[in-house]
Amino acid sequence: MGLSRDFFIALSENATLNEAAKKYGLALGANKVVAGTDVETTIESIRALNAQNISATVDNLGEFVFSKEEATAAKNNILTMIQALYDAGVDAHMSIKLTQIGLDVDPEFCYENVREILLKAHECGNMHINMDTEDYNHTVQTFEMLDRLKGEFKNVGTVIQAYLFRATEEIEKYKDVRLRLVKGAYKEDASVAYQSKEDIDANYIKIIEQRLLNAKAMTSIATHDHNIIDHVKKFIAQHNLNKDLIEFQMLYGFRSELQVEIANSGYNFCTYVPYGEDWYGYFMRRLAERPQNLQLVYKSIVTPEVERGAIVAGSALAGLVVLRKLFKK
Ligand SMILES: Cc1cc2nc3c(=O)[nH]c(=O)nc-3n(C[C@H](O)[C@H](O)[C@H](O)COP(=O)(O)OP(=O)(O)OC[C@H]3O[C@@H](n4cnc5c(N)ncnc54)[C@H](O)[C@@H]3O)c2cc1C
Repeated sequence: MGLSRDFFIALSENATLNEAAKKYGLALGANKVVAGTDVETTIESIRALNAQNISATVDNLGEFVFSKEEATAAKNNILTMIQALYDAGVDAHMSIKLTQIGLDVDPEFCYENVREILLKAHECGNMHINMDTEDYNHTVQTFEMLDRLKGEFKNVGTVIQAYLFRATEEIEKYKDVRLRLVKGAYKEDASVAYQSKEDIDANYIKIIEQRLLNAKAMTSIATHDHNIIDHVKKFIAQHNLNKDLIEFQMLYGFRSELQVEIANSGYNFCTYVPYGEDWYGYFMRRLAERPQNLQLVYKSIVTPEVERGAIVAGSALAGLVVLRKLFKK
């Protein structure tokens, strides 16, 4: 498998490593891409972004939820964060993952949890709640959830993954819903998704253009790809589109200078801010997307943290230490 996308995706799905990582705090470079482990530090990070003209979409990290107790604890963390964001008066909304609040335990229980979150967000200044999309089966269920909720709530939206063949259809169907458009982060089967980078990029451009020409709600273009961003900027100018209904998004800690540059050149910009102790799966997916992100690991490997980090991640991650040698070559 090597240090490939598949390797890191496999690591991201390893519940034992996830548990071990949680115990030892942010390690192996994850602290560069996770804003904080608690509400206060996270709000400080958001204030710093706001000061640079950047809003935030905040994600309570957490995966591998298989019991109602765990799902309820995650939901309560989200409710606490919504209230805290509102009280702090920061420019931020939240992103949630349905698997974290019980989708795999019982979809009806999950539905009640989402409703509670949406009601709370509505009370807190009608804050927007984005339902992130995950692997294919969960994504299908996320859209079913959206269909049930969008009549009752206006503060809910979701994410379209350009690698899925069904993306075009979804763009057409959800013109009135706030949407984030991404390439897609999971490994999907060839029966449902484009496989090559060229095909995914081409479909991404296609659905962005389709959406921007027809949308009646906010569109978030979430990518670190400067070629796509340049293309979108030109497309906005050519078609004289209303920039108030468009924003760019990137992940916290990635291309930070470019984030500020875009925010200061007349475009809305929003940073995805993950927080919490459950950083492991999120971080592994970032390594899967871009093995160069291992530079973040390398930088932490040269500190004493590494010894702890290697224990945390067990034998598989300990293999990453080998990278120190590779990077030195
Ligand atoms: C805010 C946000 C929210 C997301 N939400 C979801 C979600 O809900 N569901 C989901 O499936 N996926 C989500 N994703 C992940 C997304 O689907 C992609 O997997 C991820 O963004 C990687 O693709 P990319 O478009 O950034 O560019 P890539 O295809 O990874 O990179 C394209 C090119 O951009 C440049 N580049 C990329 N990253 C860097 C960097 N760090 N530094 C320098 N150059 C770089 C390089 O030239 C690279 O070749 C989200 C991504 C973002 C940014």
